[in-house]
Amino acid sequence: MRALIIGAGVAGASVAYFAHAAGFEVTVVDAGVSAASRVPSALVNPVRGQSGRVDADAVSGMRLTWSLVEALIRAGFDIPHGREGIVRPVPDDRTRMKFERNLPLDLLHAWVDPAGVSGLAPGWAHALSLPEGGWLDGGAFTRALLGAAQARVVRARALGWSATSVTLSSGVALTGDTVVWCGGSVGATWAGLGGVHRGGSVLLTSAPLSPAPLSFGAYLTPAARGGAVGATFEAPTDTFQEAPIPASSRAWLDGKVQALTGSPPQNVVGTWTGSRLSGTLPFGRTPGGWWALCGLGSKGFLLGPLQARALVEALPRE
Ligand SMILES: Cc1cc2nc3c(=O)[nH]c(=O)nc-3n(C[C@H](O)[C@H](O)[C@H](O)COP(=O)(O)OP(=O)(O)OC[C@H]3O[C@@H](n4cnc5c(N)ncnc54)[C@H](O)[C@@H]3O)c2cc1C
Repeated sequence: MRALIIGAGVAGASVAYFAHAAGFEVTVVDAGVSAASRVPSALVNPVRGQSGRVDADAVSGMRLTWSLVEALIRAGFDIPHGREGIVRPVPDDRTRMKFERNLPLDLLHAWVDPAGVSGLAPGWAHALSLPEGGWLDGGAFTRALLGAAQARVVRARALGWSATSVTLSSGVALTGDTVVWCGGSVGATWAGLGGVHRGGSVLLTSAPLSPAPLSFGAYLTPAARGGAVGATFEAPTDTFQEAPIPASSRAWLDGKVQALTGSPPQNVVGTWTGSRLSGTLPFGRTPGGWWALCGLGSKGFLLGPLQARALVEALPRE
């Protein structure tokens, strides 16, 4: 059985990993541009946004991602990551009540004294500790999944595809038993699939701004080298937009960091920008017979592997 996968972000790499485990021979076609999955440090965070919503699959998604990190490291791959937990400071009682309503019974958590949270500025009303959360290096995790899948990676743009073939920009056609499209934000725009595209940026700092991730509005986290401060905060657009961080967004991000730590980000040594995709998009088997996994929004590393595993379980086998 041969699987052809378009896109080598966390979605495509996770599909490759589980397809290989299910006995498929895997080829991944990737244009090598604008992968959101190369985010320098991504949180694996089940409690989302400023409302504290928790997806039904968040706890199992988080545990699967960590079990993959463990298995890949045992297999010899290098994946910078930290599992020291995440702290979600909240500004007032009303926000805490919203968070509390969303917390599922099987998610380990504790409300802690914000004054005792290392790196957190004074003035926060409450702090939710999520001991199972953490961060990982997006590019390293994605590369490790592809490596473990023994995937043949073809560096090219796919211009067209069907249930059993992919046509590259060179005109070459690859054939297989199954095609899975995982093109992310840039790919959805190339394919005319619509969706909601949202840009965001990460500032890279020479040292972490807090010993463990803190998140409210923006997130601060250790990274493979130094630290990272990020958020996806540009106005949503209906196509992929690639742009360096605008000055107004940088000022917004600095303000969020100031609120979390008491000062604007120090020792910024670089920036990274990316675009994430959400909205109404194809998922699973499409009417054209090819399969799709996309629209992971800001939860690619929380839910991507879990959704990929479910998709691969549904693929037809000979
Ligand atoms: C600033 C920022 C911060 C984020 N922080 C977090 C976080 O903390 N935690 C978290 O879980 N998520 C986070 N995310 C979201 C996460 O990065 C995405 O959900 C995830 O990376 C999407 O993965 P993907 O595989 O669907 O797409 P992508 O990673 O974008 O990969 C798509 C790949 O497909 C290729 N491609 C597309 N079309 C074609 C084609 N026709 N032919 C060949 N190749 C093609 C592209 O070149 C690209 O390499 C963040 C995103 C941003 C922008």
